[in-house]
Amino acid sequence: MKKHNKNYTKLLCDIGEMSGLFTDATSLEMFLHEIVLLVSKHMCSEVCSVYLFYEDNTELILKATKGLTKDSVGRVRLKLGEGLTGLALKELRPICEKNASRSRYYKYFFGIGEDCYESFLAVPILRGRIRIGVMVVQNSKKDYFDEEDIRVLRAITSQLANTIEIAKFLMSMDERRGNIRKDKIEVQDLKFVKGKIGATGIAFAESVVKREQKIIEYFMQQNLEGKYTLDDFHRAVKVSEEQIEQLQKKIEERLSDVGSLIFTAQILMLKDEDFIGGIIDLIKKNIGPVQALLTVVNKYIEKFDQIQDAYLREKRQDVEDIGARLLANLTGADQNSYMCQGKIVIAKELYPSDILKLSSQDTKGVILLTGGVSSHLSILARSLQIPLLISDNLQLLDIPDGQKILLDAEIGNVYINPSEDILSSFKEKEELKKKISFIKKSTFKENKTKDGTKVCLMSNINLLGDVKTAVELNSEGIGLYRTEFPFIVRNDFPTEEEQFVIYKKLITSMPGKEITFRTLDIGGDKVLSYYNDDKEENPFLGMRSIRFSLRHKEIFSQQIRAILRAGEGADVRIMFPMISSLDEFLEAKEMIVECMKILDKEEIPHTKNPAVGLMIELPAVLEILHELAAEADFFSIGTNDFIQYMLAVDRTNEKVSDLYLPHHPAILRALKRVVDTVSIYRKDISVCGDMAHTEKYISYFLGIGVRKFSVDATFLPKIQEVVSRITIDAARKKAEDILLKAKVYDIAEVIGY
Ligand code: PEP
Ligand code: MG
Repeated sequence: MKKHNKNYTKLLCDIGEMSGLFTDATSLEMFLHEIVLLVSKHMCSEVCSVYLFYEDNTELILKATKGLTKDSVGRVRLKLGEGLTGLALKELRPICEKNASRSRYYKYFFGIGEDCYESFLAVPILRGRIRIGVMVVQNSKKDYFDEEDIRVLRAITSQLANTIEIAKFLMSMDERRGNIRKDKIEVQDLKFVKGKIGATGIAFAESVVKREQKIIEYFMQQNLEGKYTLDDFHRAVKVSEEQIEQLQKKIEERLSDVGSLIFTAQILMLKDEDFIGGIIDLIKKNIGPVQALLTVVNKYIEKFDQIQDAYLREKRQDVEDIGARLLANLTGADQNSYMCQGKIVIAKELYPSDILKLSSQDTKGVILLTGGVSSHLSILARSLQIPLLISDNLQLLDIPDGQKILLDAEIGNVYINPSEDILSSFKEKEELKKKISFIKKSTFKENKTKDGTKVCLMSNINLLGDVKTAVELNSEGIGLYRTEFPFIVRNDFPTEEEQFVIYKKLITSMPGKEITFRTLDIGGDKVLSYYNDDKEENPFLGMRSIRFSLRHKEIFSQQIRAILRAGEGADVRIMFPMISSLDEFLEAKEMIVECMKILDKEEIPHTKNPAVGLMIELPAVLEILHELAAEADFFSIGTNDFIQYMLAVDRTNEKVSDLYLPHHPAILRALKRVVDTVSIYRKDISVCGDMAHTEKYISYFLGIGVRKFSVDATFLPKIQEVVSRITIDAARKKAEDILLKAKVYDIAEVIGY
């Protein structure tokens, strides 16, 4: 007997529906209630319950239920490991029982109304390995839940884990009064700063420095108290809620793969009785609304400051933001004077989720005090088309908010309060650029050198949103899809189903084209906030990339399965990053074979013959290239890491960026060796690191035999045009000349530095 429509996995991955949960709720309790209603509806289960776990007394408490009696909420409590529910959380795994009451772990509670529900499925709610709670579904029909139900419930819990965790945290916040602190900001007469380009573009807007205690300090200076009432405060809450929901919607439309639930914490704050109720209580005690708001916001900031967990500490910024928004909506103060909307943001450091939020607020540009141009934050900024400049000039942090900034992330300059002359010359430049880019986009249909040699130009995709540009600019396929971004900005590992949905979208948006999926490449500067492993001294030399995947095969296999399933009927290639040995490559390849066998057994459609290749990023590979070339279907050179590891220069460290030299003879000679060796085996080779989009290296690459490049899509017209001006003969001669030189200085001259 078919118990329900098995096609619901896609529906459950629909972010819009998840978001609806908290936009419709009016309190945190209500929010959890909405969750159980939604889940029981989609799982067609008679019962759905959420238990939250409290670390202090290692206890699980029933917080919301559909199906059990109302008074069981708060009354049903279980120790870790107690009952089937406690066991699921203790062992961090789903527990599915056909006859729950017959299990030796079953724990009976009198009067909660669960006697008739024999089919039982409990899935722990986890953030990484952190225990947040358990979701349980029950049904009176025996043997009601199967493998697919387990998968779906895992997908739901992982989508909601972050939101539930914040809800749990807010629910358990103590009342504590804090003191208003004040930061002193020195004003410097800074006029011009040079920096390195992380993401190109030009912006002209007012400055805002992302610094701690900003909101308190800003509003204290405004002397806003006086005429506001409790009604005004309620109105401000409502308006703020609408604004944030709009922002959430906007980011989800634009960034469906990574924008999921990014403003959750802020929406939940507005529904939190301690937070909003705390402010109302103070207002009722005749404290002015502005003061009441500042007091409670400050209390929360202090509370977040005390938290050890790095991920929850990040949420501190959300309290700042929501406080600022409420105050602006309450007092009518200029919202733009402290927020990032339409501004150029100066920040000491940013998380990937920060830059996504900035993007949804139409931030014009970013000046960052840490990180390197090939860091992943820069890569993300490029995809989001936010000009980003990196500078180590700490004085930038002292610039008072609201200064006019001209950010030229095309040549790497920042002008603070620029003169009229500078401004008008920039306006002219912008106009010219618009005209040129229009001409450029419409120039060529085919990619060929001047003498007619075919060159293949593909795109690197970081976010799904990049695909549109790639298609518009006639990209011949995807040479590198960096699968890690949906992992980085989420709050838990995306499930197989979630990955499948994203990958399928990518594939269908480029029908018939070759698409290369690079498997998870985290570690280094791409940290997962939810993966609670020990902090590494040298993350770039640590548990990075394929090492992580091979160490966590359960995560690896889910990704491979998702790629194989999404790739059915398509030209899909799987590429492993950071391979250092033949053994590693074979072990990873074996994983694909294993996954295919299981998918066959499960009769799940999938691609049967994906090409399997690897990235050349480590010098070690040079010595085993013959053996690798015999085993691999293709190679792609990741020059960003290749340079980093060949020259031992951290790609994110601004202090040694002058030593990060793509034109170092060791790099250029090694690249030649790679192309020569791979060519013997007639295997496909491409370049996908940043060198591939750097004009001055194209001729060298063509000269040593590279015919395939993968670049961020926005670079396609430029590279196409550069390629069309080169003849292979001239490129070869120039490459030979370069290869004879041993000094960086001499090569720089030939290449044109
Ligand atoms: C590279 O290392 O060149 C590369 C393309 O990978 P990533 O920049 O994502 O590390
Ligand atoms: Mg790399």
